[in-house]
Amino acid sequence: MMWLLNGNISRRPLMGHDGSGVSALVGLGGFVVTAQLLDDASGEWWLAVETADDRAWCEICGVRAIGHGRRRVVVRDLPMADRPVVLVWAKRLWRCGEAACSARTWSEDSGEIAPRAVLTERARAEICRLVGPGEHSVAHAARNFGVSWHAAMAAVRDHGRPRVDHLARLGAPSALGLDETSFLAATAEHPTLLVTGIIDIHEGRVVDVLAARSAVAVTDWLGSKPAPWLAGIRHVVIDPYQPYATAVAAGLPDARLVVDHFHVIRLANAALDEVRRRTQQATTGHRGRKDDPLYRIRRRLLARHEDLGPDGFARVLAWLDAGDPDGEVGAAYLAKELLRETYLAADAFDARRRLAGFYDYCASSDVPELERLGRTIARWETPILRWHRTRLTNAATEGTNLIIKNIKRLGFGFRNFKNYRLRLLLRCGAPWQHPQVASIRPRQPRISA
Ligand SMILES: [Zn+2]
Repeated sequence: MMWLLNGNISRRPLMGHDGSGVSALVGLGGFVVTAQLLDDASGEWWLAVETADDRAWCEICGVRAIGHGRRRVVVRDLPMADRPVVLVWAKRLWRCGEAACSARTWSEDSGEIAPRAVLTERARAEICRLVGPGEHSVAHAARNFGVSWHAAMAAVRDHGRPRVDHLARLGAPSALGLDETSFLAATAEHPTLLVTGIIDIHEGRVVDVLAARSAVAVTDWLGSKPAPWLAGIRHVVIDPYQPYATAVAAGLPDARLVVDHFHVIRLANAALDEVRRRTQQATTGHRGRKDDPLYRIRRRLLARHEDLGPDGFARVLAWLDAGDPDGEVGAAYLAKELLRETYLAADAFDARRRLAGFYDYCASSDVPELERLGRTIARWETPILRWHRTRLTNAATEGTNLIIKNIKRLGFGFRNFKNYRLRLLLRCGAPWQHPQVASIRPRQPRISA
């Protein structure tokens, strides 16, 4: 390896000349480059750097310090012209110039390069940006910077947490959505782990993600938030899940619950599926196979009636004739459509009237799944009707679900929920350009010593 003295090379994109034969490293305040080398084997730039200021004073007695040699520290920095950059910092060691002073030797420090760091702070901030909004995997970012996965993840944590923990990140939502999402698929060791996503409905932004789908998780989370923030929340949109309703009643007594149309129709579809499977089993003695009448129409049954068209509906009726001797599947189909029609109502009063017809139909259907569906809908009637007044829905989270999926794919399943939460919130829950982030101090480059 041969080091080139810096004065021999001009116009390096990251360095500015000051005419003295050394160059300031742009953006890394206080450092100058004394030599550089392009390593052909690795494609890396190796820069020898030192601090420009060659004076120091004893912290104990204030006497000017005397140089006590150097210690070389190797750290990775931001890439330069698409090449990895390695800094070799000749760190100054000092001792006190006063013989009577108790001070021992010490080394200089820099806010840009933490003690024992393998990366400059700005490189660590960049890794956080790549992994957060950039959606790179931690492994990919680590490889790009030539550091270990753990060093890269530590950078994401140190630079990401202040952004995520910042109170301003919570925004000022007037409507929250609570929704379950699966965190880890079931394995031999554990069932599918469900988490709770909390969404700012109007902004379509993830406010937080909780490690459980329970009343306690939501109550604890609400309890940790400032009262004025909680007071701004007027509506909470949930799927019809009692623990969520219980938590909201306890933690946000003045907020109103809304159950959106999407979750209501999903209940009707689930009941229809149950009736179909039960009938399938009773008539054929086995689970659905591709030539079974009910199995053939399992998707058409769940479609919107108006989307089937006359031919499609005729086919549904024909296969029901063949596979639904007691008309129970047909009844469940009709119940689903009756419930859907309540959403054609002009207003909440009209919707209430239509729901009454739906309840009567379910109650007299003689189909146990439909009787239960009618009772469930009736129990949630107030928040269901509130949708007709507010039109608030969790559907805005669909795009967020895609992001969640993508992040899970990158993280190979995220066994570590804390990492998962951090990355999710960095990706779609933190305003990236937030002006006040404590741990990242913008510094003015000092061009000359
Ligand atoms: Zn001293």
